[in-house]
Amino acid sequence: MIQTDIIVIGAGPVGLFTVFEAGLLKLRCHLIDSLPQPGGQCSEIYPKKPIYDIPGFPEILAGELVDNLMKQAEPFKPGFTLGEAALTIAKNSEGKFVVTTVKGTKHEAPIVIIAGGLGVFEPRKPPIENIIDFEDRGVEYIIKDPTFYNDKNCVIAGGGDSALDWSIFLAENSIAKEVVLVHRSSSFRGHLDSVQKVIDMAEQGKIKLITEAEVTGLSGNGKLSAVHITHQSRGEMVYETDHFIPLFGLKPSLGPIADWGLEIEKNAIKVNTLDYSTNIPGIYAVGDVNTYENKLKLILCGFHEGTLAVQSAFARIYPEKKNVLKYTTVNGIQGF
Ligand SMILES: Cc1cc2nc3c(=O)[nH]c(=O)nc-3n(C[C@H](O)[C@H](O)[C@H](O)COP(=O)(O)OP(=O)(O)OC[C@H]3O[C@@H](n4cnc5c(N)ncnc54)[C@H](O)[C@@H]3O)c2cc1C
Repeated sequence: MIQTDIIVIGAGPVGLFTVFEAGLLKLRCHLIDSLPQPGGQCSEIYPKKPIYDIPGFPEILAGELVDNLMKQAEPFKPGFTLGEAALTIAKNSEGKFVVTTVKGTKHEAPIVIIAGGLGVFEPRKPPIENIIDFEDRGVEYIIKDPTFYNDKNCVIAGGGDSALDWSIFLAENSIAKEVVLVHRSSSFRGHLDSVQKVIDMAEQGKIKLITEAEVTGLSGNGKLSAVHITHQSRGEMVYETDHFIPLFGLKPSLGPIADWGLEIEKNAIKVNTLDYSTNIPGIYAVGDVNTYENKLKLILCGFHEGTLAVQSAFARIYPEKKNVLKYTTVNGIQGF
């Protein structure tokens, strides 16, 4: 049982900054995220895109913002349960919340702050009839560890940044034996630099690029051994491969949180803007996951929400203590 003061569900930018603000009040946090790395949408969807509306940073890459937030939270030694979605919540005999993940990891705290953003990300799967039979047997929807593809034949599908960047990475660093990139159109949605790089690498024979084609079938005996590619003009071809990695993005869904008895409106959690508390005392919701009149799904708004939520959490945990706002310029950072 992991015990802490605040369980933060979601390690996106808002969850990470909430840890910092809680730390200033000497409250410890433990973060749970279904993704294998912190950063939420910033890390998963657009790590290399510049953001222009973070106060004090005229321009910052989303990935850099996450690195900075991790560094800022570091003195307060947050715990992390990554790669596990929070599945259930219950109250124990002491009146504390117990949050259990899909893998059975249990966390106990008097306060839960949900910073779940757009919810649990689920991969968009291509409509291939028997794809489930090959999941984790040669079909992966997320590349967690590129060394897994050492000396393997890989077929990647997709036309966005993820498909382009991973094709480049696996081929450029000679990780995979062969990289085949299949895309249904002849134009790509990713960064122009990445598109040009893939085209150059295809001309140099480092990536095999098949456009105007889709992977429409999979075969193998218990383990993937070939993909069936349907080309718009050339018809079907069979390609022997060890891995098929469709990178069509991740679709968010509120997931298990939707069944926790919270007041939900338009797929988001209704909160009181006084302190971003939900209808369940002791549970707060901050960032993209919440809704209220005039809500803006912006990182800077989430930072404000997390700051007010932890002030209220402090008052719940220590009703007898008076909390006086202290500037960091005066007090500095007193880590744990
Ligand atoms: C392409 C793009 C560009 C953007 N540009 C800007 C911009 O310029 N400026 C700006 O302010 N905003 C921008 N945004 C929006 C911004 O990214 C979001 O407002 C921000 O990420 C919200 O942060 P969050 O921490 O609330 O949620 P998220 O970043 O969505 O993180 C939530 C985390 O919670 C996790 N989670 C959810 N449910 C569970 C569960 N049950 N168990 C465990 N983990 C769970 C998710 O896996 C996720 O990691 C952009 C978004 C996109 C997609």
